[in-house]
Amino acid sequence: MRHLSHLALGLVLLLACRSPRAHPANVPHNAVFILLDGIPADVIEQVDTPALDEIAAAGGYARASVGGALGGRTETPTISAPGYMSLLTATWADKHNVRGNSNQSPNYRYWNIFRVVESFDASRVTAVFSTWLDNRTVLIGEGRPGAGVFTIDHAVDGFERDTVAFPHDPKSEYIRAIDDRVTADAAAFIAAKGPALSWVYLQHTDDMGHAHGDGAPFYAAVQQADARVGRIWEAVKRRQALGEDWMVVVTTDHGRDARTGKGHGGQSPRERATWIATNTPRLGALFTSGQLAIVDIMPSILQHMHIVAPPAVAREMEGRSFLR
Ligand SMILES: [Zn+2]
Repeated sequence: MRHLSHLALGLVLLLACRSPRAHPANVPHNAVFILLDGIPADVIEQVDTPALDEIAAAGGYARASVGGALGGRTETPTISAPGYMSLLTATWADKHNVRGNSNQSPNYRYWNIFRVVESFDASRVTAVFSTWLDNRTVLIGEGRPGAGVFTIDHAVDGFERDTVAFPHDPKSEYIRAIDDRVTADAAAFIAAKGPALSWVYLQHTDDMGHAHGDGAPFYAAVQQADARVGRIWEAVKRRQALGEDWMVVVTTDHGRDARTGKGHGGQSPRERATWIATNTPRLGALFTSGQLAIVDIMPSILQHMHIVAPPAVAREMEGRSFLR
C-alpha cells in the first residue's frame, strides 16, 4: 500500500508538472509591439537606452530595414504611415497602397494583424494605444467597408484632436504630453487586463528629429521614449509573473537622412536602416541574418500567439517569422 500511495503521489506530481505553466501551448501567448517614430539604427545604438537594453538582453536586438527592395516592385517610401502599414500587413506599398501620411486609400485586401487575430478568435482582447488616431481608423480601417468587420476591443487615441486638454504648441510639447498619456494608459491596461495583442505608437521622437536633426534635443527625446518603453515593460513583467508568455517587439518606422537627420522619405542607407528589439529568446537564424525587415514582425507575432492566418492572407505576406 505504501508503495502504491507513493506511486499515486508520483502520478499526481507528474500531472502537476504538466500544468499550464509547464505546457507552453496552454498558457496565454500575448504580444505588444511598440513603434517609436523615426529613430535611425545608429542613433538607437549610440544613445543610452536602459529599457531597450533590458528587453534585448532577454531576447535580442538586430538591425532591420524598411523601404522594400531598392528599385524593385516593393520599393516603399521611408515615410511614417507606409512604414506602419508594412508592419501591420507584412506587405510593402505595392500591395498595401499607403505611400504617404495623408489622402490614403489603403488596400484592405491585405489583412492587417488585428484583422487576422480578431478573425481567428474574436474573444482575444486587442488594444491600440496611439498618438495618432488614423492608425486605427484609417490604416487598420476599423469599421471601414472592405476592411473586415471587427472591433479593436480597447482604443486609447485621438488626443491630438483634443486641443483643450492638449493645446498645440510649435515645439511639440503637446505630442510629448500625449506620448506620456498614451504610455500611462497602455501600461495600466496591460498590467490589469493582459490583452492578447497591443500596439503602442509613440510619435514625439520624430517631431524632435524634424525640428532639430541629429543632436542633443533628438537624443533626449530618444531617452524619454526609452523610459516610456520601460513603463510598458514593467507592466509586461507583472503579467509574466502570472505565468503568461509575452512577446515584446520594439521598432521604428524609418531612419533619417545622413546629412542633417531632419528629413526622411528617400532610399538612402540611413533612411532605410531600422532596428528591432525583442524579449523573446526563441529567435531563429533570420533575426541575425542581416536580412531582417519590418514585414517580418507580423508573422513572428502570429507565430508567438499560435495564430494561423487564412492561407490567402498568408500567401501575400512578404515577411517571414524571425522566431525559431
Ligand atoms: Zn515616422
